[in-house]
Amino acid sequence: MAILISGASVAGLTAAQRFSARGAEVTVVERAPELRRSGAPIDVRGTALDVAAGMGIRDTLAAHETGAAQRSAFTHIVDENGEKVGALPTELPQDSPDDLEIFRSDLIDILHGSIGPDVTFVYGDSIQEVTDTGDAVEVGFTSGRAGRYELLVGADGIHSNTRRLVFGPEERYRRHLGVYYGILSLPAELGADGEAYFYGVPGRSVLISDYADRTMGGFTFLSPEIAYDYHDVDQQRQLVLDTYSSVRGWKTAEVLDVLKRSEDFYLDSASQVHMDRWSRGRVVLLGDAAFAPSFFSGQGTPLAMIGADILADEWATCDGDLGQAFGRYEQAMRPQVHRAQEGVPEARDRIIPATWEAIEARNHRWPPVR
Ligand SMILES: Cc1cc2nc3c(=O)[nH]c(=O)nc-3n(C[C@H](O)[C@H](O)[C@H](O)COP(=O)(O)OP(=O)(O)OC[C@H]3O[C@@H](n4cnc5c(N)ncnc54)[C@H](O)[C@@H]3O)c2cc1C
Repeated sequence: MAILISGASVAGLTAAQRFSARGAEVTVVERAPELRRSGAPIDVRGTALDVAAGMGIRDTLAAHETGAAQRSAFTHIVDENGEKVGALPTELPQDSPDDLEIFRSDLIDILHGSIGPDVTFVYGDSIQEVTDTGDAVEVGFTSGRAGRYELLVGADGIHSNTRRLVFGPEERYRRHLGVYYGILSLPAELGADGEAYFYGVPGRSVLISDYADRTMGGFTFLSPEIAYDYHDVDQQRQLVLDTYSSVRGWKTAEVLDVLKRSEDFYLDSASQVHMDRWSRGRVVLLGDAAFAPSFFSGQGTPLAMIGADILADEWATCDGDLGQAFGRYEQAMRPQVHRAQEGVPEARDRIIPATWEAIEARNHRWPPVR
């Protein structure tokens, strides 16, 4: 019987390749009209590199490395005039000497390119109804289509639709860490010298990160949970414009100006997902939907890839005993997820101190590197 995967991002695409390679008939349903390629560069590290090797894409990923490794290992902190006042070490602890940083767009394209023509992609559709009959999952889609599957993999991110339909409301599982982040592409002239810079006032920071052939911008701000539509980019744009309306130092005005007409702006809450169980019957969650560690950890992407590989492996060897496959998948993943979800507040306080005193203390602790 067939397998349905909800979400065509890192978790969903890796799962599609891995399940298909093990003989499954795979359909992927993605809510967006096409693959979503925006976002900041992300890390592929540790065991995820072995998963990439198993998929035959490790060398291609390495060939698309952003070049960040050639920079100084710092994100420079500047004041309102652009003077360097501090330098945060950018390197996360290395999982392996070969850790890669890659643009999210390249990773999505490479993962997608590794999938054979036997996998079916359905864009612009979403699951509306799920019924687990014991011997199958019956799914109704918003388009009116319907399907019957052996297994449903919910790989639809921190605001997972599958999780809501099968496990209950998002509030039960997603923990907002008090921070929002927004990412957008910038014109090259806003970059500087191939390095990363940020400017901050209490609770709000603006980042410009320059690469050989791209320049990315970012907003990171402290805020309690905000009620907004995750799919309404205009509303998200306005939210950031309002939040930064009184911030004028450094290049903030120019970055806000680009935001007004940005086509690839992405905003989300820095959140973790905590669940007691990642499966119910024939439905299993994967990636951020099940165990988001938050963007602070740098582990969301590797964990999604590793989880997809383990899940497909356990499915292929479980002889129809899905309970056993899901149990082993959780057992293998939980310790790694636990490690990734620890230590986040420290990273948050370093990037976006809440007061001028805390900003001064941070800059004193990490003095500028000229
Ligand atoms: C456009 C985009 C930009 C991102 N940028 C960053 C970034 O800059 N920094 C960072 O740390 N993380 C970013 N992330 C999150 C990062 O990709 C994940 O944390 C990590 O890679 C794990 O991926 P995932 O596949 O579990 O979840 P996600 O990457 O969040 O993917 C979820 C996928 O499910 C799809 N989806 C959502 N709802 C439905 C539905 N109802 N039906 C079908 N499909 C649905 C989404 O469109 C998306 O393609 C971004 C995610 C997206 C989608």
